[in-house]
Amino acid sequence: MREDQYYGFVTARLDHFFEGGLTYCNTFCLDHQYEPYAVYKVAAPNLEKGHKDYLLLKVVEGKTWVNGKNIEDMEKWRYQNGLHCQICDEVIFSCYRHDFKHCKCEGCNVDGGKDYFKYGGTNFKVVNIDLLEDRICPWPEEPSLSK
Ligand SMILES: [Zn+2]
Repeated sequence: MREDQYYGFVTARLDHFFEGGLTYCNTFCLDHQYEPYAVYKVAAPNLEKGHKDYLLLKVVEGKTWVNGKNIEDMEKWRYQNGLHCQICDEVIFSCYRHDFKHCKCEGCNVDGGKDYFKYGGTNFKVVNIDLLEDRICPWPEEPSLSK
C-alpha cells in the first residue's frame, strides 16, 4: 500500500530537517485538497513549538508545503476504500483524484482518490484501508438510521 516514492522523499533525510522522529505512513489527500500529502507520524512532537502528531508534506509546482495535524483531526481522513487483488495479493488505493493505479499483476485497478471510488478488473475484494497504520481494517459501523 505504501507510496513512499510519490514525492521522492526519503524519511532518513527528512529526519535531518524535522525533529521528533518520523515514521512514514502513506501518501493521501486531506482537507479536500487536490494534491496528496506524504504523511509521517512524529514519535515525540515538540509541543512547545506547536508541533503535531503527524507531519504533512507536499510539493506543488516545485514548492514544498509543510503542515501538521493531531491524531483527532486525522480520524476523518485516515480511512479509504481500496482493492485487495486475490491473484497477486497486492492492496492498492488511489492517492488523489486522477491517480489511476493497478496492482502489480494488472488484474485490478482503482481511481478517484477520496473524491470518488472507481475500480475495475477481476478477482479482487473491496477493502477499507487504515492509511495511518497501512493495513486493511474492518468497515466502520454505519450509524443507525432508525431509532
Ligand atoms: Zn494483482
